[in-house]
Amino acid sequence: MSVFQKIIDGEIPVEFLHEDESCVAFYDQNPQAPIHVLVVPRKPLKMLEDADLEDEALLGRLMLVANKVAKQLSLETGYRVVINNGPDACQSVYHLHVHLLGGRGFSWPPG
Ligand code: AMP
Repeated sequence: MSVFQKIIDGEIPVEFLHEDESCVAFYDQNPQAPIHVLVVPRKPLKMLEDADLEDEALLGRLMLVANKVAKQLSLETGYRVVINNGPDACQSVYHLHVHLLGGRGFSWPPG
């Protein structure tokens, strides 16, 4: 079972910034920016490439929740949303999640 499943199930207590029937959002324990939040679906998809048409609404929901949390946290000058998919992208937790990063400027292209 992934660490995120344990968080969703309440086995690892964390403060949720957002919680609904389809996903939760909480602070990343190893922040890569002044604000670093993870938006995690309750459905245990391992990675983006495992999603299919039946997950279309869920994927949209994750984006809207990232935007809602960005507003909650007053990220008025911008933010970045990232999904790492697989080893080349340095995915380390195999339970789909969206990173919401903000509070500093970001360069492009990403590393
Ligand atoms: P990724 O590399 O895209 O799979 O991102 C996984 C993220 O999960 C990393 O940024 C970790 O810091 C974060 N993470 C791992 N365990 C926890 C935890 N228990 N609570 C909060 N964030 C976590």
